[in-house]
Amino acid sequence: MDLWIQPCVPCATLYGQPSTTEPHEHLTLVGAGGVKDARAEEHYTCVKCRGAFARILAGEPTRQVWMLLNAGQH
Ligand SMILES: [Zn+2]
Repeated sequence: MDLWIQPCVPCATLYGQPSTTEPHEHLTLVGAGGVKDARAEEHYTCVKCRGAFARILAGEPTRQVWMLLNAGQH
């Protein structure tokens, strides 16, 4: 289990934003998540603070947000 990370400022800002928001400059796309539709969810890692993001691109509109997976509560 990864240690909780302290998000850098761009990550802390991006967290909870709608998934239509563009990823910030330190994020690297690491691939789709554990869903059948590869376009429904994208995973990113921040090279600066090692934050792991899931960008939800399908489903309930209110759930289509940037989720930070390894900082604080889910
Ligand atoms: Zn970061």
